[in-house]
Amino acid sequence: VVLPRLAGRIRVYRYGPPLAIALRAGYHACSPRRQHFPFHSQPLSTENGLPPAELSRLIEEHAKQPPLPLTLSKLLSFARPLTPESVLESVRYVTTEIPRMLAMRARSLEALPFIVGMNPFIARTLQAYRNSFEFLIKHPPVVTLEQNARFIEHLADLVHSHADDIPAMAKGFQECQRYMTSQQISEFLDSTIHNRIAVRLIAEQHIAISRDLAHGEGGGRHLGVVDFSCSPKELIGVCGSFVRDLCEATLGASPEIIIDGDADATFAYVPVHLEYILTEILKNSFRATVEWHERHHSASSTGLIPPVVITIASQPRPHTPLPPPSSPEYPSAARAVNPTPRYLFLRVRDQGGGVSPANMSRIFSYSFTTAGRGAEGNGSEWDDAALDAGPYAAQHMSGGAAMDSGGSGESLFSEMVGRGVQTGMGTIAGLGYGLPMSRLYARYFGGSLDFKSLDGWGTDVFIKLRCLDDGGDVEI
Ligand code: ADP
Ligand code: MG
Repeated sequence: VVLPRLAGRIRVYRYGPPLAIALRAGYHACSPRRQHFPFHSQPLSTENGLPPAELSRLIEEHAKQPPLPLTLSKLLSFARPLTPESVLESVRYVTTEIPRMLAMRARSLEALPFIVGMNPFIARTLQAYRNSFEFLIKHPPVVTLEQNARFIEHLADLVHSHADDIPAMAKGFQECQRYMTSQQISEFLDSTIHNRIAVRLIAEQHIAISRDLAHGEGGGRHLGVVDFSCSPKELIGVCGSFVRDLCEATLGASPEIIIDGDADATFAYVPVHLEYILTEILKNSFRATVEWHERHHSASSTGLIPPVVITIASQPRPHTPLPPPSSPEYPSAARAVNPTPRYLFLRVRDQGGGVSPANMSRIFSYSFTTAGRGAEGNGSEWDDAALDAGPYAAQHMSGGAAMDSGGSGESLFSEMVGRGVQTGMGTIAGLGYGLPMSRLYARYFGGSLDFKSLDGWGTDVFIKLRCLDDGGDVEI
């Protein structure tokens, strides 16, 4: 009982490693807070685990390996055409590259100030990476499709086991704010979350194409997790109704959404990424609009909540017909008609009062929020879908398999959504990760996200997304 208190208060590193290790173990084992956090992650392998020192040595070795340069076109080439050989080539990639990326993440967590590493949330996240790394490097080589079929189920579990990494790190860094500057925390989280997006993309792409091959699918508008006819309007519809329900349940009202501009535009993109961005930006706009309206208008005028207007603009697609996305000729044909990168733009405009100049410089900082936090430790933000949230994915991802699902097309991404659904909903705001993470997602393939506030009136969020059909050279 004393140990956790001690660990939180004294500067343990002064007392050398043995005490520190004892305290860390004690803190970890006794922490009452631990029970409040709904970790789904279980160690993937505890029996016959590698000795910790050996595991650390392997992690260090893998973290030093040079990355295999991975571009989007390389990732998509495993599905162009989709053959048993291409799937087995993809798995070779997964089993070498993902351990390296996990090792890098483990190393970067280990390099945090010691006192931060002692935090139970950070320590558990590190342990989760070490476990996943160990699982992958101990996995026997996958050389047949049957072995791959079993492997992808483990890989899906592995992805799932990391569902709570970001809320956990958010909680950990919140508790450790005084030991690191916000700049240091931002840099750490930017690179960690970027790495996480890459790992998920590679893993989920492999799982999707493996399932497509097994089900005889592929060749349609999806190439694994990339949808070549991704429709922002469709996504706005799905994300918007999710956010509307959330907003009404939380704040008792919600604005309408109006879509204008090039409403029927489609483009090649990873729908779950756009879905994440839209959900977060809409949550912010809805909350600002309703709260601002309530503060400035009498109750009798609640029917007049101003709408959130989303304008879609896309650079026109050339009329030259292209071969199907799964054709090996597709990339060069797409590049021939699109010699320069194309973008799709979204502007989300609300009349939610904007952001005060005093807060403007902080809105992209991790954990900056103006949402009233309840009593510390009420836990409400932890059992939510606020992070990897979104209603679209569960229905539409997992290659084409889930689209016509009669139950068989279990979605890879259901955890993102499922948690929201299972727990009733999620929270409209409070973690302060929505804006920085949405911007990371938008930038991931070379786009951008800008926030313009008209203080006292409203906000425009400009989202620019790189169309991926010609984006062969986009690095992952
Ligand atoms: P959270 O929504 O959890 O607070 P975000 O990173 O999404 O975290 O947003 C950070 C802060 O930026 C919000 O708390 C709010 O103060 C401000 N903000 C974001 N979007 C808007 C908006 N559309 N209108 C007014 N303020 C906004
Ligand atoms: Mg938000």
